[in-house]
Amino acid sequence: MNTFMTLQSYGSKSAKANLAVQKRIQSIENSISTTKEDSFIYKLNHNCNSEIQVDNDALTLIQFGKDISEKTDGALNIALYPVIKAWGFTTGEYRIPETAELSSLISCTNYKQIQINNDIVSLAPNMEIDLGALGKGSAGDEALKILKEYGIKSALLDLGGNIQALGTKTDGNKWTIGIKSPWGDGNAVAGVKIDNQAVVTSGGYERFFTGEDGKNYIHIFDGKTGMPVENDIASVTIIAHSGLYADALSTSLFVMGLEKAVDFWKKNQDFEMIIITKDKKLYFTASLKEDLIVKYNFLETNMID
Ligand code: AMP
Ligand code: MG
Repeated sequence: MNTFMTLQSYGSKSAKANLAVQKRIQSIENSISTTKEDSFIYKLNHNCNSEIQVDNDALTLIQFGKDISEKTDGALNIALYPVIKAWGFTTGEYRIPETAELSSLISCTNYKQIQINNDIVSLAPNMEIDLGALGKGSAGDEALKILKEYGIKSALLDLGGNIQALGTKTDGNKWTIGIKSPWGDGNAVAGVKIDNQAVVTSGGYERFFTGEDGKNYIHIFDGKTGMPVENDIASVTIIAHSGLYADALSTSLFVMGLEKAVDFWKKNQDFEMIIITKDKKLYFTASLKEDLIVKYNFLETNMID
């Protein structure tokens, strides 16, 4: 998944459990990678119009990704891969595509055209999918399942910044997870105490390039325009029991912007969130009140309820 993983687990079988987790995550990667030629996603993306039989990992994620794409009205769009490629985020050979190129690519990113029939998936011509916005969250959930099978009751997984906790720390206290400064200074601007939850952040500071025009272009895209997202949000952190849900929503709510993200929370209320805006304000959902530690001197700290 192009990132580092750190796993701390406590219990007599933790060494064996950690190895099993590593294997499981590798197998998910082999199934959903966009670049490994044997993966199901690679086969789907390179066999225009054909029906591909996929394994359970790919199937679950494609179905979930399609559902969240619908639920967020395309803020998340797992079919945006042609746009992401055009900007060079898949190879590191960054470029700024012309508007005409983007419009033509957008016409092949309609996630409603992903057909799923039992374990057979097919895409419309020129469509390509990418599960990068939710794969790490799902891998975290699977990792925790394995740790539980090994009788582990306390563990903390950091999968490229996606944090997932199993139980509490061994002393019974909650884990404290730092929320990174979105201004690239390496500090934690806040902390949140959790047990048995995932904490997933999406932010423009994570991956971007600076164009010849001096502007920064980030790795999260608005599917309506094909342009990197530019709104009032610096980072969105989602706290939820499912890592998959938290990962999918962190990306989705980042794309939506503050107002729509708050509306989405009000409508669903099955997750908690911390939003940091570019104008240095912090927003958090009310249930986090006791568990949030604010370290940075934000211009405003607002509770959402
Ligand atoms: P995350 O770090 O979880 O927010 O996911 C960001 C990754 O998801 C990017 O690196 C792209 O591969 C992909 N991506 C970017 N924009 C979108 C979007 N609007 N919907 C779905 N995936 C996206
Ligand atoms: Mg995500």
